[in-house]
Amino acid sequence: MKVMFLALNARYYHSNLAFRYLRQYLKKTNADVVLEELTISTPLREIVKCIYDHSPDALFISVYIWNSLAVKMLLREVESLMKCRIYLGGPEVSFNAEEWIGNFPEITVIAHAGEESVRKIIDSKCMNEEKIISEPNPPFDEIPFPYTEEELSSAENKILYYESSRGCAFSCSYCLSSSYSCKIDLRNTERVKEELSILSKSGCAVVKFVDRTFNYDNKRAIEIIRHISHLKTDTVFHLELHPEFISNEFIEVLKDVPSGRLRFEIGFQSANPETLRAVNRYQNAENSAASIRRISELKRFHVHADLIAGLPHEDYKSFRKTFNLLASAGPDNIQLGFLKILPGTKIESQKNIFGIKHFCTPPYEVIETNDISFAELSKLHEIDSILDSVYNSSNFRETIQYLSSKETLFDLLESLLSYAVESGFDIKTKNWKDVSSFLLNYCRHKLSDVQLLSDYLCYDFVTSKMPGAYPLFLFPEYESFKHKCLGILKLNSDSQSCLKGIAPKEYSKFLFFSPRSMHFPENLCRQNEIIALYKDRLFNFV
Ligand code: SF4
Repeated sequence: MKVMFLALNARYYHSNLAFRYLRQYLKKTNADVVLEELTISTPLREIVKCIYDHSPDALFISVYIWNSLAVKMLLREVESLMKCRIYLGGPEVSFNAEEWIGNFPEITVIAHAGEESVRKIIDSKCMNEEKIISEPNPPFDEIPFPYTEEELSSAENKILYYESSRGCAFSCSYCLSSSYSCKIDLRNTERVKEELSILSKSGCAVVKFVDRTFNYDNKRAIEIIRHISHLKTDTVFHLELHPEFISNEFIEVLKDVPSGRLRFEIGFQSANPETLRAVNRYQNAENSAASIRRISELKRFHVHADLIAGLPHEDYKSFRKTFNLLASAGPDNIQLGFLKILPGTKIESQKNIFGIKHFCTPPYEVIETNDISFAELSKLHEIDSILDSVYNSSNFRETIQYLSSKETLFDLLESLLSYAVESGFDIKTKNWKDVSSFLLNYCRHKLSDVQLLSDYLCYDFVTSKMPGAYPLFLFPEYESFKHKCLGILKLNSDSQSCLKGIAPKEYSKFLFFSPRSMHFPENLCRQNEIIALYKDRLFNFV
């Protein structure tokens, strides 16, 4: 019996973990299994041809919020063309199976965790009559390791997804993970450690944990982190944390983990107590912000923190407060997300209470609520674009720190947005030169110290190791300054240990920085100090 798993991923570098588990789980059967991974951008004709070439007896497609429209388009073609049985699984169909079956009568839906349901289908040679199948799974510890040796041997520089637990112990009303099972299912810790060692040996760039709350069990989380810390690897491990459960001990352990080994995604969501209560999220915002601040201050790991606009009782004013509290914790990246009313979530059944209107098509994003208007949410979308260009890009770190020291980050972004509208600047621009010119003009417009801002921009240019030379408008007198720096270097090359191994003829490739404004902060660079960038190395000398 030929079984085809078809994944339509959002990007070519993503992969489908669920099908990898299923493929390994079906080794108990005699099924001839093939896994094909395409993307939502693959032309429909190519996807249909891929299915046609395999001519499976059973076609399984996993459906998520990001690929559900692509799956619907595909089903319209495949239902009439192929003779195979078609099964859909995944969160997007698990909670509204009847609606999918109403639209596509030929399909069968596998609701929730799929391993045992799929095995049952294969064992019955697809003779099952039910239109919705939801067999209880064995404990997660009995589900095999998802990757094959062949996959691991070609995993170098790739992202590998990994799951050390399934389910979530919490019940935030907007989240699918809280909907069908509050029971958290943990993989044995020793086994997790073994599997992580295997993954790290593959040379993959990132192991991305898809656990909903990695630090749910603090003791276990610390044990796994200690193990990760001792691995001899360059692999980065991406973990999702609940800020409320970041303990002192957890932070202490992080101090011994090699810098850059971990990457954190932390759901802050809201600082408004009424909002948190309404969505059933157990969290003290002040404590959570303090924990994020402590991890950020270690400056050892990238910290990405999420917010959700459009939650019940969160109006524009209280969202500003939420945003600023999170920003004060200094994460590297702030993801300004928007509430999505996912089918099957508790908030879907409560949407009338909160006056929530949302788009009917995926990703079901909120349009307005009793507390926030469509215009205000649209403005937050625009603020999000500016946030991405100037804050999340990490290319203007000190510049934005300086600009936001006079007001809050949210107010600065609002002010940048109105200047962008006034000056016709495209807020989606990511080009460094264009954004820095915009920031400089903004300073002129605000009558602030343009020379100082220009120093900040040059400092950020050098320290974020941007390729090439400064844009002329930032440092018009750079050539004569460079000449002076080269003279100092040549005179002192013997005494500067950082120059060892670099031939003097290479010095002309250096990019130099020294502040021109008397007001540039000494903790970044003193007045007579010079910072030089050569390839990806930074030196300081006087
Ligand atoms: S938002 Fe996070 S903590 Fe809340 S239910 Fe979902 S996965 Fe669990």
